[in-house]
Amino acid sequence: MDVEYIKDQLTFHRDFPKKGIVFLDIFPLLRDPITFETLITHFVHHVTSYTITKSPTRKIDVIVGLDARGFLLGPIIALRLGAAFVPVRKQGKLPGPCVGASYEKEYGVDIFEMQENAIQPGQSVIVIDDLIATGGSARAAGELVAKQGGKTLEYLFIIELMFFRAGTKLDAPAYSIVQSD
Ligand code: 5GP
Repeated sequence: MDVEYIKDQLTFHRDFPKKGIVFLDIFPLLRDPITFETLITHFVHHVTSYTITKSPTRKIDVIVGLDARGFLLGPIIALRLGAAFVPVRKQGKLPGPCVGASYEKEYGVDIFEMQENAIQPGQSVIVIDDLIATGGSARAAGELVAKQGGKTLEYLFIIELMFFRAGTKLDAPAYSIVQSD
């Protein structure tokens, strides 16, 4: 029921950010506090129910949120789970020493960064973003977690674009609330 409720409030924008692209907009979900709460609770319930039923001793140490819409979800989920929040940002945006990983965009290559020592070796991590398409940005985030010695347990998304089949090609399982063509 909560999935239908969330799905119903997603909107589409044709020709954004450029002609030929249909952009899925998650911001309407955040405008209504009940929907936003439902969304966060859905993710927290997913993570905690897995822990209770399949791995009672597991503890999530860190939630990694991707630039930029992962920043809107990650910190709230981290607080609910009693975990740290760590941002992954585009190159040049984070102060101090950083580790980097490149990923392919439609035209050329981009670089993601994470602050050095933001994740301690052996820590359990969940990565979150609003949407997975080709999976390039999620893969780069997973690479940054691995470079710091962390272990990604799962990737969370509001939406997976199934056309790319990227969720099955990451180094940990991917969970999405809504699957779109
Ligand atoms: P990928 O790296 O998987 O190809 O692309 C995913 C990234 O692009 C995510 O950070 C996501 O925010 C952004 N993105 C690509 N297309 C869309 C879209 O239609 N809607 C939203 N909300 N984000 C998108």
